[in-house]
Amino acid sequence: MNVHAHIGATRVSARGVELSRKLRITAGALLVAVPLAAQTSSVKVRIGAITETMPLERYVAAVLAGESSVFHSGEALKAMAVAARTYAVRLRRRHAAEGFDFCATTHCQHIDMSALKPALNAAAADTASELLWFEGKPAYTPYTRDCGGRTEDAGAVWPDLAAPYLLSLRDPYCARDGFSGWHWRLQPAEALAALRQAGLRAPLRLERIHILTQTSSGRAAVLMLSGGGELVRMDASSFRFAIGRALGWNLLPGDLYGIRESVSETVFYGRGAGHGVGLCQHGAEQMGLAGRTYREILAAYYPGTSLGVTARGISWQRLSGDSIVLLTTEPARDRPVLATAESELRRVEQRLRLRLAEPVELRIYPDLDRFRNATGEPGWVAARSDRHRVEMQPAAALERRGVLDTTLRHELLHVVVEQQGGTAPLWFREGLAGYLEQSAAAPLDLHAPLRIPAEADLRQRADEQRARKAYADATRAVGILAARYGETTVFDWLKRGLPPEAMKAAESQAATNSR
Ligand SMILES: [Zn+2]
Ligand SMILES: [Zn+2]
Repeated sequence: MNVHAHIGATRVSARGVELSRKLRITAGALLVAVPLAAQTSSVKVRIGAITETMPLERYVAAVLAGESSVFHSGEALKAMAVAARTYAVRLRRRHAAEGFDFCATTHCQHIDMSALKPALNAAAADTASELLWFEGKPAYTPYTRDCGGRTEDAGAVWPDLAAPYLLSLRDPYCARDGFSGWHWRLQPAEALAALRQAGLRAPLRLERIHILTQTSSGRAAVLMLSGGGELVRMDASSFRFAIGRALGWNLLPGDLYGIRESVSETVFYGRGAGHGVGLCQHGAEQMGLAGRTYREILAAYYPGTSLGVTARGISWQRLSGDSIVLLTTEPARDRPVLATAESELRRVEQRLRLRLAEPVELRIYPDLDRFRNATGEPGWVAARSDRHRVEMQPAAALERRGVLDTTLRHELLHVVVEQQGGTAPLWFREGLAGYLEQSAAAPLDLHAPLRIPAEADLRQRADEQRARKAYADATRAVGILAARYGETTVFDWLKRGLPPEAMKAAESQAATNSR
C-alpha cells in the first residue's frame, strides 16, 4: 500500500471512472461510435516513484506546463495542446511493460505538475478531445524547440516513423525575431571523456571532426572523428546525446550546424535546437503572435493531417483525366468536374502559351469542415493550390455560388505558373490569375489609382475584406500592365521576372491617373 496524499484524489477519480462506465453502458445503444479520445480519457503517468492516473486533459495541460509554459500566444498553446494530446493517444501504453503509459521526462513528454496555470488548462479545455488524424488513425505528432528555419524529415531521425506529413519544410516564422544562432568551442579532452562515458568508440586523441554526410534538411547525419592516425565514423545524434548527457544540453542543442577548424580550435556554428521534426515551437509561437489560428499552425507543421474529435478518414476515389487526377468521395457526382477542369486547363495553357510540366491532383473535399481541417483555410477561401495539387470545397457549394469554373481556372492557372518556377512577385502571380480568370477582359477604370498590394495583405487570412481588396488591386494592376505592354509580353514576365521599367511604368501610370 502506498500511503500518499494522492490516494484521496485517486479514490475520487476511481468513482468518476465507475460513473462514466455506467453512463456509457446506458447510452451505449444510442451511440453510433464512441470517439477514440473518449475511450482513452485517462492516462497512467509515472512521476518519480509514483504512478498517477489522471484525466487526459489534465495530462495535456501538464505537458504544456513542462514543454511550452513560456508561450505568449494562446493559439500556439492550443496547437501544442492538440500535438501533445495526439502524441499521447497515439503512443499510449508506451511503458505498458512497466505498468504505466508515460514517464514524466522528455523520453515521452516532459510534464511539470507544479507549473500548471489557468492559461494552460484553458488551452487544453478549448481543444478538448481534438486530435490530428491521418488515414483514419491519430497522427504521430512530434514537436521541436526551434527548427532553425527548416524542419527535419522524420525519416532522417526515426526511419520507421517517416510520414508524408512529417517532411522537411522551410519555416519562415522561425526567423521573424532573428535566428537563435549558437556556437560551441570543442574541448577535445572533455569531448573524449563524454564519448567514452557514453560507451562510444572514439580515437585515442581527437584532432579533427568533420561532417561526412548531411540529411536533406542540412543537418549533420554522420561525423568523422580523426586523430593519431585513427578514423572513427559516428552518428551526429549519438555524438550530440553523449555531449548533452555529460556536459549539458545547451552546448550542442541540435544537429543543424557547420564546423570550422583552425590550427588552434574547432568551433561548431549552428541554429535552432532539438531534433527539428514536426511542429516547431519557436515558429508556432511566432505564427500565433502574427494572428494565425491553431488550425493554421497545425496545418503548416503537419500538412495533410485533419483536425477533429473522430477519425473522419476520407476514403478517396481516383478518377484519371489527361493531365488531372481527381480525388473525390463521390465519383459519380464529381465526374463532370474533371471534364470541366481539363477544358479549363487547356484554355489556361493556350492563353499563357505554357504547358503543364507535371500532372496535377485535384481534391474535392466532401464538406466544408473537412476542407477547413485539412487545409487550415477559412470557409471563405474556395480553394487553394501548390505546384502539384489543387484542394477545393465541395463542387456543389461552389456551383451554387456560381464560382466553380472561375475557381478551377484560377487554381489551375496557379499550378501552371508555379510549375514554371519563375521569380515573379506574389502580387503579379495572383494578379495574373485574377486577370485570366475573367472570361472577357473587364473594362478597366484607368482613372483610379494603381495599387500594388502588399504581400502580407495577400497572404493573411484573418480579414476577408482586406484579402479581397488586395486580390482586386493585384488583378487590376496586371490588367493595366497588359493593356500597356500587350498580353504576350506580360505573360512572358512569369518566367523572366518583372523588368524594373515595367514597375516604374506602372507607378508613373498610377501618378498620371491620380492627377
Ligand atoms: Zn517515457
Ligand atoms: Zn521553426
